[in-house]
Amino acid sequence: MDIGGRRRSEHFEDRGQGGGGGGGLPLHLLFGVVQMLGVKGVAVIGALLGVGYLVLPAGLKAQLFGALGGPGAGPQGSGSVCAASAENGKACDFSRVVLASTEDVWKDKFQSASLPEYGSAPGPYQNPTLVVFADGVSTGGCGNATSAVGPFYCPRDKKLYIDPGFYGVMEQKLKAPGDFAQAYVIAHEVGHHVQNLIGSTRLKVRGESENQVSVRVELQADCLAGVWGHTARASLSITEEDLKEALTAAHAIGDDALGHSNQDDYTHGTSTQRIRWFRRGFEGGDPKQCDTFAVTKYAEL
Ligand SMILES: [Zn+2]
Repeated sequence: MDIGGRRRSEHFEDRGQGGGGGGGLPLHLLFGVVQMLGVKGVAVIGALLGVGYLVLPAGLKAQLFGALGGPGAGPQGSGSVCAASAENGKACDFSRVVLASTEDVWKDKFQSASLPEYGSAPGPYQNPTLVVFADGVSTGGCGNATSAVGPFYCPRDKKLYIDPGFYGVMEQKLKAPGDFAQAYVIAHEVGHHVQNLIGSTRLKVRGESENQVSVRVELQADCLAGVWGHTARASLSITEEDLKEALTAAHAIGDDALGHSNQDDYTHGTSTQRIRWFRRGFEGGDPKQCDTFAVTKYAEL
């Protein structure tokens, strides 16, 4: 990828460290703790991993934040995430370029009405805001979250939340390095925003569990991320090597690769499915091909 000279999005918030009460523990530790506890969000819309974002029962939330929260973590956090290190600064700048590119791509797709249809026309594209934070964050309507849940999208405030430390987790823990793997993360969360606007996140499927519908939603977000990659290919000099980075990442965060043994617990799809749907978007560049809800049988996703 080459981001030189490209536009940086202004729809970007640097929240600083420790907002939402999650301060105090390094990201990789938090990640492990939440995996150990097996915490699952009630609403799974948005997180990239199978952990789900935190809309927890009150007792558990108090316990989790009580145990992990550092003293004095204010609601908005303090300082600047982007200024905290050279690495973060680079991640912030990169994120703004990818976000700007998604704005261009989706504005155009919404204008040309080349989207899956779920009843009502979505109108023009509305830009989401990307919030970077460290450790913990308060959202506008989706509660508090710690970095342990991974990047997520809150449909209520139309914001994407990413702790740049997650890119280190991807590289070291998930063995999914590379700038395009990071771009895929952002594009996947933007995919959830697109779904929010077109209405696919509110669909139910007769005879399917919430988890199964969640898999349909997540695979569609992967496909929409692929559509972005296809469309931005020339402007950001996306190479075959970049594509491999995204596929490696998609594989690493499949429900089976993350170690969920019971298929009923799947919320995001297997590695094979995630790769297949990302590829479909990336190769065809057509959002209409991302209609996971048009696949009649769940087993054929
Ligand atoms: Zn997701």
